[in-house]
Amino acid sequence: MSDRYLNILGKDIPRGESTRLELEVARLHTRNRIQIPINIERAHEDGPVLLLLAGIHGDETNGVAIVREIISSGNHRPARGTIISIPVFNVFGFLNQTRELPDGKDLNRVFPGSAEGSLASQFAYHFRTKIAPIVDYAIDFHTGSADRHNITQIRCNLDGEGMHDLAMAFGAPYVIHSKPIPKSVRETLIRMGRKALLFEGGKTRSLDPEVVRCGVKGAVNIMRYLGMEEGAPDIETPSVVIQKTKWLRAPTSGLFEPEEINGKFVRKKTLLGTIKDPYGDYEKAVRAPHPGHVVCTNTAPIVNRGDALFHISTDLPGDN
Ligand SMILES: [Zn+2]
Repeated sequence: MSDRYLNILGKDIPRGESTRLELEVARLHTRNRIQIPINIERAHEDGPVLLLLAGIHGDETNGVAIVREIISSGNHRPARGTIISIPVFNVFGFLNQTRELPDGKDLNRVFPGSAEGSLASQFAYHFRTKIAPIVDYAIDFHTGSADRHNITQIRCNLDGEGMHDLAMAFGAPYVIHSKPIPKSVRETLIRMGRKALLFEGGKTRSLDPEVVRCGVKGAVNIMRYLGMEEGAPDIETPSVVIQKTKWLRAPTSGLFEPEEINGKFVRKKTLLGTIKDPYGDYEKAVRAPHPGHVVCTNTAPIVNRGDALFHISTDLPGDN
């Protein structure tokens, strides 16, 4: 963005300005206006516009904590360009600690949205028409859904121009090739020509300090990579790149005890967990059907046959 002023939500924001605006998305039956606080920090020097977006799912607290930490530590003030921070997008879900909005809709499945659509669809519409057009790059922060614990990872379409290097610059333990989910905010951003990374770390309704640390560090690395901050990205260990993954599903129902294998490479037939009959009649060992990296583990105490238990990479052929 080389313009002296950046017009956001009808306000002309000059270079060097720091401001907080409200995105108005709806009015409730109680006549309360629903407003989403948005933090905007413009440097004096030109550079890209980076969006830090969290809380699209209201119960995914780690993402909210990451954007909060970036703001409170002052890392949201770039040396060049503009950083737009939205720590809590789905304010309803955040209040109620649910994934969805009160209309039962998953905000990340209703994009591009419509002004006349459901409440969730209106959220998506206002984001698409008022925020997305001014964004060059976005990081969308998530956790595993329900009881699924994701090892910290960046997901993106590695076939997209420049996306491999952008994803690696984040410095997460894993980079997983993944095309955007239909009707997600990432799909809409990509269709609009924007570059978007999806961050996944930890699980819902929990705060994981290591996930938050990795998310903050990765976002600063992206700012450095884009020239918005001084210095090169600080990569502790280059990310393991995964092209394909597969869910291993529960072979039976019962009490579930996973082994400590999340984030580890397992060989074929490694014991991953045990499903136990509540009446003590049998135990079923769950073993790796192929070698791979375990990038997500279901931590639910009780599982039903067919539930997703472990997300494992399938890149490596043969018996390792
Ligand atoms: Zn999510």
